[in-house]
Amino acid sequence: MRRLPILMLLLALVASACSSDAESEIQSSVDSVENSASTGDAEAGSSTGTTSTECADMIVLFEPYLEHVTIACDDDFLYVESDSLGDHEMMVGITAWNQQVPLPQPFSDGNVWRFPLEPSAADTPTATNGQGSVAMALNGVSIFDPTRQDGVYATERDPYLIGELDACAGHSGRADDYHYHAGPVCLEAENLADGGIVAIALDGYFVRSFTDPDGSAPADLDACNGHSHDDLGYHYHLTETVPYVLGCYHGVVDIDGAQPHTTPVRRGNGQPIAAEITAMYTDDDGSVTLEYTYLDEQRSMSWIAIDENCFTFTYLNPPTGEAFGTGSETVCRSADNVDAPPDPPAPPNGAHAVTDVPDTGDE
Ligand SMILES: [Zn+2]
Ligand SMILES: [Zn+2]
Repeated sequence: MRRLPILMLLLALVASACSSDAESEIQSSVDSVENSASTGDAEAGSSTGTTSTECADMIVLFEPYLEHVTIACDDDFLYVESDSLGDHEMMVGITAWNQQVPLPQPFSDGNVWRFPLEPSAADTPTATNGQGSVAMALNGVSIFDPTRQDGVYATERDPYLIGELDACAGHSGRADDYHYHAGPVCLEAENLADGGIVAIALDGYFVRSFTDPDGSAPADLDACNGHSHDDLGYHYHLTETVPYVLGCYHGVVDIDGAQPHTTPVRRGNGQPIAAEITAMYTDDDGSVTLEYTYLDEQRSMSWIAIDENCFTFTYLNPPTGEAFGTGSETVCRSADNVDAPPDPPAPPNGAHAVTDVPDTGDE
C-alpha cells in the first residue's frame, strides 16, 4: 500500500483519541510547521525537507478539523485522510431515505484525497461526471454534485430538492458513505463567514462561502460557479441554487486520482422511501442508533463496528418489503458488493417510493 508521504505529517487523530496530550502535540506540531514556514527552516517537526508556504497555509486552514482529518504534503500535493463522517448531527431531517447510513470510511493509507497545492487553470473546463466527489469539505466529508451517476441534472431527482438530505445537506450513499450534495452549512462559523473557505475542489481551487469577503453576493460566476477577484485568485462559491458548489472544474484535474474510493458494506437498493429520520445517536459502547418513522410507525436500526471493514446491524421493527434486513446481521466491505443491486421489491400496501428514479448516483 502506498503510504502518505511523511514530508510533513500531522498526527492521525481519530475522533475517539482526542486526549489533551494528543491535542497539545498537534498544537506543537502546527506551531512547528508555522514557525518553520515563516523562517524557511527546512526541518518541520519530525519531517524532513522544506515546508512550502502553500502547505503551511493548509495546516492553518484545517486547524479546526484536525480531530477528523490528517493532512500531509509533498512538493506538489496536499494529501488528506478522513473518515468522511460529519463533525455534526447527521441524517436527522431526511424525509426521503435511501436506507443507507453513515459508516466511517477508510480513507487512509493508499486511498486518500490528493489535491494540487498550486492549482492551474485548464484550457477548457472539465465537466463533473456525477460519479463520486467533486470536492472535500474542510471537515473531511465528501461533496458530490446534484446529479445522478449519469451526470445528468434534473430537479425531480436533485437530492437537495426531494428531501434526501439532512439539515447539513448530507446523506449516505451506496457504500454507507456520508457526503454532501450542496453547501456544507454545518461547518464552523468562521468558515461559513463572508468569503470563508469551506472546501477544496478536486482541481485544488478553494470553494468559498455564499458571499464574498465584503458580504456581497458573488458576481459574474462562470459555468463552474467560480470567479476571480481581488487577491483571492480563482475560487468557487457556494450558491443556494444549482450547482450549489461547483458546476465544472476550472482547473486541471485528475478526477479519479484526486479522491478516495468507497467499497459497499451492505447491498442496499438505493431507493428512497418516505421515511422521516428523527434521531441518530452513539451509545457508550460505540453502537450507533438511527430512529425513523415509516408508515406511521416508529422504527430503528443500530450498528456497531467489529473492525474497520465489518459491522453488525440490528433492525428493530423493520418494515417488510424494503431493503432492510431483519434481526441481526454482520456484513463486511467487499469488492463483491459493487455489483448492481437487484431490483427493489414492490412496496407494501400503503407504502410508496418517493421517486421512481432509483438513487444510482451514489457510490
Ligand atoms: Zn468570490
Ligand atoms: Zn448522495
